[in-house]
Amino acid sequence: MFKSILIANRGEIACRIIRTARILGIKSVAVYSEADKNALHVDMASDSILIGPASPAESYLNIDAIMEAIELSGADAVHPGYGFLSENADFVERLQHDGISFIGPRPDAIRQMGDKIESKMIAIKNGIPTVPGVEEPILDIKMANKIANEIGYPIILKASAGGGGKGIRVVTDKSELKNALKTCISEAESSFGDGRIFLEKFIANPRHIEIQILADTFGNIVHLGERECSIQRRHQKVMEEAPSPFLSDQMRKDMGTQAVTLAAAVDYSSAGTVEFIVDADRNFYFVEMNTRLQVEHPVTELVTGVDLVEQMIKIAAGKKLEFSQSDIKLNGWAMESRIYAEDPTRGFLPSIGRLVRYREPITSAFGTTKNVRVDGGVNEGDEINRYYDPMIAKLITNGETRGEAIRHMRWALDEYYIRGVANNLGFLAAVMSNSRFQAGSLSTNFIAEEFGNRFIPEKTEHEDIELIVVVLGAVNCIVAEKRSRLLLRRMDGTSYYRDNYQVRQNWVVIFGEEKYPIRVIRSNSGFDISVGKRSFVVETDWTPGNPIFSGRLNGELVSMQIEREATFYKVQHTGLTTDVRVISPIAADMLSMIPEKLAPDYSKQVLSPMPGLLMSIDVEEGQEVNLGESLATVEAMKMENKIVAERNGVIIKIHSRSGDNLEVGQLIMELK
Ligand code: ADP
Ligand code: ADP
Ligand code: MG
Repeated sequence: MFKSILIANRGEIACRIIRTARILGIKSVAVYSEADKNALHVDMASDSILIGPASPAESYLNIDAIMEAIELSGADAVHPGYGFLSENADFVERLQHDGISFIGPRPDAIRQMGDKIESKMIAIKNGIPTVPGVEEPILDIKMANKIANEIGYPIILKASAGGGGKGIRVVTDKSELKNALKTCISEAESSFGDGRIFLEKFIANPRHIEIQILADTFGNIVHLGERECSIQRRHQKVMEEAPSPFLSDQMRKDMGTQAVTLAAAVDYSSAGTVEFIVDADRNFYFVEMNTRLQVEHPVTELVTGVDLVEQMIKIAAGKKLEFSQSDIKLNGWAMESRIYAEDPTRGFLPSIGRLVRYREPITSAFGTTKNVRVDGGVNEGDEINRYYDPMIAKLITNGETRGEAIRHMRWALDEYYIRGVANNLGFLAAVMSNSRFQAGSLSTNFIAEEFGNRFIPEKTEHEDIELIVVVLGAVNCIVAEKRSRLLLRRMDGTSYYRDNYQVRQNWVVIFGEEKYPIRVIRSNSGFDISVGKRSFVVETDWTPGNPIFSGRLNGELVSMQIEREATFYKVQHTGLTTDVRVISPIAADMLSMIPEKLAPDYSKQVLSPMPGLLMSIDVEEGQEVNLGESLATVEAMKMENKIVAERNGVIIKIHSRSGDNLEVGQLIMELK
């Protein structure tokens, strides 16, 4: 077995690999850039080595610097994680040359499968179904036109070297082809240094279902079932689960067999994933193979009980697989949410800044914490910067059934406490609460169809309102008790309150336009709270000042985020952010006589949500625009981000020009 593993990566995946190395008793060596001096993966590793400046090209992608770090540390193996050098065959060859083990597949398998055109040809040769299209690079618009006409629209353009959802364009009509081809090639060149594009039929309303495989160096290959990754935005996965609610045992077996066949065809070893898209008629088509550990691997670990990182390490050390296909059993259900620093209310644009407050659910849970796993990679106080992927952590839950995994996820999302950068927690919670999601009726269009291209939390189910009202009753009672305790102590210093004070209070909870009169009685186990004719028991150990309320409502775990602001509580729960007031019945009567104050209107200015290059202004002065309409395009983090109108209006003045380098908050245009 290896003595020491160097992890050529950062963030959550570096931490994830270090955890398994520890369990196996292997020393871990972290590498880090100047921007990551205080990063969690550096804290966690047995050793750490600075490899260069913040920019990935000079650090995490800098093969020379990493080779030097390997030599310096004396590591005998390298785990590449995902992204960065994980699918770089040249890097693997450099390692082999220096006698260092690579914890991943052999370089020729990486080359064959890393190229989408070549991998598709290999699949076809081995009788694996693929999407109709061409298996050669598109050279010009003439060729693109001809092939697209032959297979029929809609079609999808893809970068052969692509990954991470980049370099993909769906074209629904002939008139869009020319522009799409241009942007696709330029994105492929800037992201992958390889402008080769191919095209295939765009499968309507597909599901993304992938098969995890493990292969040792002795020719033994098993598959570990599937993951469904249909919850995507712009071809990037957002939530994943295992198993898929769509697959029968027979289909799982068929897809698993095809995945194993493909792996065998390239003499694969290590962990890998064969991705398929599945149409509404349950036909499945191979799309690509990822020759690395995948972001969403934890859901497979939770349903199979196999530690994939451990297996990768053992395989690289020349060990035989200790199990065969018949030993692999799927137990229960697992879900994963990718927690991103992005702003769902502004078209999901990346958000950068300091994680002023950061607390993972597992450390603040009331009651049980099993069924919740956090693969985190940050500390409170860390900076989310523009150099790296804005993923903050992965939240994974499991249960015996899909419903149970969802229940745990909803609870855990409410427990997650992040301040300082915009994040998608509320959006993820809204997906979990969505009835179509709960019914398992998924497709890669799910987010676009259910939420559009931005997410404004608004609708609240009746039962959620009642739950918030009840919890706020208990919260307000605890706050009132503390206040009177302090007051009594200040008056005579006795413990009179604790012995004799029986709290029994009537309050009015104001939620939006509605008023809910409630009655709160302190009981032995907590609070008896009645709202109208319905009564509830709330148990909690919450104390004033804690931003997360955790407790049980009629025995069920419940949590929400509560922050006191001036005269109200700011509440976040299942994707909803709302201001709630709890006041006395007399104050409630008086309140109805006070005129309302209007909030200032910030929606007239269109500001740049991040630093980046203004690529284009898509509107003119005087033009009328509708909510959701594209106003401008900003390039940041190698992605083209659309800035959309957040209301209907007329463009009255444009302040920036395409080609401008924008600061955060810089005024782009004004609306009326
Ligand atoms: P898939 O590549 O099929 O979406 P994953 O979701 O596991 O599978 O991978 C997404 C991750 O892949 C991203 O978070 C990123 O780390 C990594 N990645 C792969 N290729 C690239 C790339 N060219 N640029 C940036 N990230 C990439
Ligand atoms: P990447 O390497 O970026 O992960 P993929 O080839 O895996 O690229 O495609 C990413 C996503 O794009 C898929 O998960 C799927 O949602 C969508 N996609 C890819 N090919 C097709 C297709 N032919 N028809 C419909 N959707 C597709
Ligand atoms: Mg993919």
